[in-house]
Amino acid sequence: MSFTPVSLQLPAYRDWKVVASESFHTLQELLNFCEIDPTESGAVVHEGFKLRVTRYYASLIEKGNAADPLLLQVLPTNREFLTVPGYQRDAVGDQLSVRVPGLIHKYHGRVLLTLTGACAVNCRYCFRRHFPYSENVPGLRITDPIMRYLAENEDISEVILSGGDPLMVSDQKLIKLIGSLNQIPHIRTLRIHSRVLSVLPERVTAELIEGLKQFDGNVVMVTHINHPNEISRHNRQAFQMLSGQGFALFNQSVLLKGVNDCAETLIALSHELFESRIIPYYLHRLDKVEGAAHFDLPAVESCRIYRQMRERLPGYLLPAMVDEIEGQLSKIPAGNEPAEPG
Ligand SMILES: *Cc1c(COP(=O)(O)O)cnc(C)c1O
Ligand code: SF4
Repeated sequence: MSFTPVSLQLPAYRDWKVVASESFHTLQELLNFCEIDPTESGAVVHEGFKLRVTRYYASLIEKGNAADPLLLQVLPTNREFLTVPGYQRDAVGDQLSVRVPGLIHKYHGRVLLTLTGACAVNCRYCFRRHFPYSENVPGLRITDPIMRYLAENEDISEVILSGGDPLMVSDQKLIKLIGSLNQIPHIRTLRIHSRVLSVLPERVTAELIEGLKQFDGNVVMVTHINHPNEISRHNRQAFQMLSGQGFALFNQSVLLKGVNDCAETLIALSHELFESRIIPYYLHRLDKVEGAAHFDLPAVESCRIYRQMRERLPGYLLPAMVDEIEGQLSKIPAGNEPAEPG
């Protein structure tokens, strides 16, 4: 990227790997910290898709509130074990679009790399909660088949780093990948989809920024924030700094029952994002993944919420509400269905 850098004013963050290692992994630790009675919370131990929460994220949860919108995103409950018709393991047909291990090519001109299965926070509604990462994590061998695919497909101009969370990968590996991408002249944009940016802002280091700037094209970062309470001074500093360094910042949210299914909340989120130099990009309706049905909303409600947002937000702060539908060539705009029956 070529631009004049603004001075790197990084907050005095601690080593992100140490901070990540201090995350909560057990129900008891998390509920104790949040001062929540385990019987009241409906929480259960989930051996398959484990609890994982950074201390920073947990610190934003209101003490004693078992219905806190941030808590609900990360707390495993027995509702995840319900079998609900229509909710599948591979909700969006990702596995059909894996071209080489670790590379998903669904849409024109852009591919997504599943760099790692690791995340800093495990979101209970995650549409990739059943994704077979063990077969699709390229690890250190990122180079050969993936790079060959990218080099041979000259219409690919954008590479999206995803996961899991691509920022759980070390700087060294990211820089190596960027070096390889720089060898392919038709790759013009590098996009990073990461929840780490908001839940583990210590990850935003001078080394990371310098590493990303080694990419010859544009760098786009997409945060994943669902509720205005997820933003505080701590991560806002990181966002403002990234923006000051010339990275384009966007946010994607998922519309979640009990978490952000309210126009007021989403409107406040758009304004909070803008204060942090982030433009709202997508508001995803829930992907119908097994174990997450309790987060879903009827279409009439999502449409009502979206109409209220449209009536109250400037166009540039209105995310596109979309569905991901297997076999389609893009995300599909939603919210234009009639909000009230009849
Ligand atoms: C969502 C997604 C993208 C990116 O789509 P945009 O509309 O460009 O944000 C790319 N690849 C896959 C597999 C996706 O799921
Ligand atoms: S951070 Fe993203 S990939 Fe990881 S659990 Fe949450 S939604 Fe899933």
